[in-house]
Amino acid sequence: MSAPRSPSLRRSDAISVTEVRNALRCPRLFTLGRSTGKTVLFPVASSALGATFHRLIERFSRSLDTPPTGVSSLPEGTSAEALRRALICWILDDHLVPELERNELYARAPGEVDDLAEALRQFAAFLADRAATMAGRPAAALLRLVARSELVLESVIDLATIPGSREGAGVIRITGRADALFQDDHLAPEIVEYKLTSSENALLDLAQVALYRRLLRDVQGVEATPVVLRFEPELTVTRADAADADRLVERRILPLIRDMVRWLDEPGQTPATDRLDICNACPMRGPCREAHPGRISARDAATPSPLAPTPDGLIIAAPRRVEPLLDAKATPSPPLPQGGSARPDAPIVDGDRQGDTESQELEAMILEEFKRRGVSARIQKRIISARLIRIEMSVPPRSSLKHLDQHAEDVCHHLASRLGDPKLQPVYESEEGQRVFIAPRRQPRAVELGVLLRRGEEWLGKRPGRFVVGEGLEGAPVLGDLSDGATPHLLVAGQAGSGKSVFLRALVLGMTAYHPPSLLTMVLVDPKLVTFTDIEERIGAHLASPVLNDVEEVLPKLDELVDEMQRRYELFKQKKVQDLHQYNEVVPAEERLARTIMVVDEFADLLFVKSSRAPFLQAIQRLGAKARAAGIHLILATQHPTVKMIPGEIKANLGGKIALRVSSAVNSRVVLDTSGAEKLLGAGDLIADLGRGPVRAQAPLA
Ligand code: SF4
Repeated sequence: MSAPRSPSLRRSDAISVTEVRNALRCPRLFTLGRSTGKTVLFPVASSALGATFHRLIERFSRSLDTPPTGVSSLPEGTSAEALRRALICWILDDHLVPELERNELYARAPGEVDDLAEALRQFAAFLADRAATMAGRPAAALLRLVARSELVLESVIDLATIPGSREGAGVIRITGRADALFQDDHLAPEIVEYKLTSSENALLDLAQVALYRRLLRDVQGVEATPVVLRFEPELTVTRADAADADRLVERRILPLIRDMVRWLDEPGQTPATDRLDICNACPMRGPCREAHPGRISARDAATPSPLAPTPDGLIIAAPRRVEPLLDAKATPSPPLPQGGSARPDAPIVDGDRQGDTESQELEAMILEEFKRRGVSARIQKRIISARLIRIEMSVPPRSSLKHLDQHAEDVCHHLASRLGDPKLQPVYESEEGQRVFIAPRRQPRAVELGVLLRRGEEWLGKRPGRFVVGEGLEGAPVLGDLSDGATPHLLVAGQAGSGKSVFLRALVLGMTAYHPPSLLTMVLVDPKLVTFTDIEERIGAHLASPVLNDVEEVLPKLDELVDEMQRRYELFKQKKVQDLHQYNEVVPAEERLARTIMVVDEFADLLFVKSSRAPFLQAIQRLGAKARAAGIHLILATQHPTVKMIPGEIKANLGGKIALRVSSAVNSRVVLDTSGAEKLLGAGDLIADLGRGPVRAQAPLA
């Protein structure tokens, strides 16, 4: 094996808090960031909205000493509600609107702008509620409350004080910029970070703000409470205990900083992340492979992207163990909402000549429209999926993509009028340097469950719990696996007309296709009596009980599953095995246990009723955490993916997320942590995130 190549690092006596945060995620992000001179943004897609939000908040905070009359004239004792209204007007009218007017690109991202506006409203309301409890006129209280914004912090740490340091290790400067320092009349000072990324990063956020607390104490002697304000876009406030934050710094962050200094000298020694799931989304994956060719662990190589087709042309949307079927090469996940894998040899599905004709017509019209505007454009590739046509554009050498961007919106409008149906209007997207037109097909092609099952048969038939999600953009089946640790349970959301019921039926029928009732049983709950109407005739032997139509029957069933889970753990203990799969391998065939899957359509009904809400959430938590190994799985579906209907207890415990069309970007974020599902076409068009990022697919008809 060749010796690792050591990237040459720019030596420095300072480490930034962002670098520490990156190193907590993966140490190599730190050394690779240094060696390439790049700022590593991770997660990649989190930057644009977050940067705008931070910029607006910063401007707003700096303008607090010159408030508009609507705020400065408010007397002492103004109600929180009145102050909230005044602040929201101020922040939206004086800060957001000018920002939107300055840059016409915002007009192309209405979902993101909605989220941004909502996050700003939440911020204004938060400040108003706090300031209303403080003494003096609201304007003065606000100025005191937001004592500092964009607070630059820098402290020197003596490495010798950190256990395990080498002799003569010297000192290191730690630099950072905290978002704000709040000074409420009633509370200790607060060092505050604003976050727009999802709560998956909560521990990193906490570590970051804990380190800011330490720097602030070193520099100014101020003991501040670490606070994270997370806008998703609804606001969640997390206040860390100061003692816990200090312990985190002492036990985790300072030793890491000690090691980071060492890795500056010996970058080849920088270890890879322990996390199984982040390499495929890592912006440094390429440089990482180059810098550590002999040191990428088997795990690094064995976690293909959800969009990496297997040799059979399948797309496995869930992460899984290494199996010979898999292709270890990875391709980057596509951005939402119109993502698709870019396989140059994308086949036209047999018999889809109609799609071929439609796409050729669309191509010709696009080129013609650009030509009329004096812009040279080329077609790079086209992909015809069951519902969409995707046309990737390029420009001739020495031409600029900027010209495409400038005229694309106009081209889209004209195409809609030429096609004679506004619903067929293409959208134009810029995806990591690629320019793409995506248009709904005039005559969609039906996707058949039977066809997808046959194409995925070998993989699906190997283990109960594997399932078909749908057909991916390039025609390959998109598959998932409940026996995988990242996706033991599923959350399915879609408004009326989204195709949720059809999807659930296909999911259930597909799961039972290759496995006998002795190895796979199902409990189906259908309170609306529309989803599983004729299913008993089709898969009756796989049903543990008749389809349940009364949500009140769900709670006893969940209790039974919890008991069964405990019973199975006892059996596993006796046989000294870890999970259902191992157990079934060591016992005689007649003692094997069936994987049990409970599908609840419209679980929200259980949350509406006060008496069932708490026991339901409790059971979900118990099953969510431990049932995967026991082979007991939940698939919960809802038409109403709101924060209220999908509380944290549910979201945190259901690994796999499948969003069909939902009514707003906010709802999309509730399910997927990103917008996009609000733009889906309905009738089975979906985005699945089964632990490896979003994959778009069309649900099959069963
Ligand atoms: S590819 Fe994986 S190991 Fe390499 S820097 Fe990225 S996260 Fe770390």
